[in-house]
Amino acid sequence: MLHEVAASDIDITHIVTPIRKLLRRVRFFDGEVEGIDLERKKVSVSHGIEHHHHELEYDHLVLALGSVTNFFNLPGLAERALTMKSLGDAIQLRNLLIERLEAGDFECALGSRDELLTFVVAGGGFAGVETGAAMNDFLREAAEFYPHLSEEQIRVILVHPGEVILPELGPKLGAYAQKKLAERKVEIRPNTRVTGISDRGVALDDGTTIPTQTLVWTAGISPNPLLATLACQKERGRVKVDANLEVPEWPGVWALGDCAAITDPRTGAAYPPTAQHALREGKVVAENILAAVAGKQKKPFVFTTLGQLAAIGRRTGVANILGRNFSGFVAWWLWRSIYLVKLPGFERKLRVMLDWTLDLLFSKDLVQFMTLRAPAVSHEEAEKPEAAVGAREQTSPAAVPSR
Ligand SMILES: Cc1cc2nc3c(=O)[nH]c(=O)nc-3n(C[C@H](O)[C@H](O)[C@H](O)COP(=O)(O)OP(=O)(O)OC[C@H]3O[C@@H](n4cnc5c(N)ncnc54)[C@H](O)[C@@H]3O)c2cc1C
Repeated sequence: MLHEVAASDIDITHIVTPIRKLLRRVRFFDGEVEGIDLERKKVSVSHGIEHHHHELEYDHLVLALGSVTNFFNLPGLAERALTMKSLGDAIQLRNLLIERLEAGDFECALGSRDELLTFVVAGGGFAGVETGAAMNDFLREAAEFYPHLSEEQIRVILVHPGEVILPELGPKLGAYAQKKLAERKVEIRPNTRVTGISDRGVALDDGTTIPTQTLVWTAGISPNPLLATLACQKERGRVKVDANLEVPEWPGVWALGDCAAITDPRTGAAYPPTAQHALREGKVVAENILAAVAGKQKKPFVFTTLGQLAAIGRRTGVANILGRNFSGFVAWWLWRSIYLVKLPGFERKLRVMLDWTLDLLFSKDLVQFMTLRAPAVSHEEAEKPEAAVGAREQTSPAAVPSR
């Protein structure tokens, strides 16, 4: 749902559930794992403002560190590209879209308007397509509030290395999504890769450069780098586990989700790194830890992918559910219904449902969320007679201004 946050369809915090509300009977430690000692069964973690250290002992350890964005060392990407992996990324993207519109609207932007209003998304998988489609809808709808801008000036370009976008859904649905996005003026560059970003713009492997300063990178993930420090078998950087999701070399150590290489015993192929699988793997790991503690039989992880869905903007979607293809409004409706059901807790479901209902009635929200301190003056400056009145008006030291 990150693209919905980026495109202002739902409120920033409505898709996340506070972990303390979720895990009521769990001892929770909010920290960063810095090292794992499998021999001594200890995990070193840091937390707090000054990042002080603790060592946590374990009997059983579950590795669920997920994945990280990989920029493949392409020039400029680590410094300039936006990513789409966390709520923070979605908020940053929304802020940046508004910032670009604000900058582009002013007369002084005449020379750089094209550059400001061109947006490149790299990667035609689920994250790239959903993000690109949502950005396109948001920007075109928002443009009407900017007197010097028109919809025609906005360019959203999706760069994809394959022939057809959304390869996971097959060529038919991919071609449908491509056609719908093109109808809404998203420019799709198939068989093309981004090779870097600089002051001149986004460079492509066909030798062209798109003049823009906005690149959203969704074209590469890698397993969490912490896994490389572990002395166990890996497959493309992910921890290899047995059928019960236990690390064979280290009994009592388990791995799941994006950081685990899990083989489907029926096909011999690896399970895909999706939330759909990670959630079910979590349940099997929990049951197997209980079984290990009680000396009972562990059970293997076997799961058939139920389906995959993508929202492609303007109440349109594409989906493959239990082998059946859906497209258009029905797929979009299925997308929203299924993701609503998946949200943990009634409160979040209700909040998102209300957001979606209000979204039908009102135009998109153009609020920029900025975590800046309100301006302040020093004590000496405040004492000057001419500054006294202005200084007293600044009452809140850590306000969160928005516009
Ligand atoms: C934009 C986007 C859209 C997606 N859409 C879908 C979708 O529609 N359907 C679907 O099934 N899947 C989707 N996925 C994939 C899905 O999000 C992942 O497969 C799933 O989240 C994997 O779960 P996980 O628990 O393995 O990892 P994560 O959910 O990534 O969780 C890993 C956690 O570990 C934490 N962590 C990392 N390093 C440390 C450390 N050193 N110390 C402490 N904590 C650490 C991270 O902060 C994070 O909270 C999407 C992914 C993205 C990026």
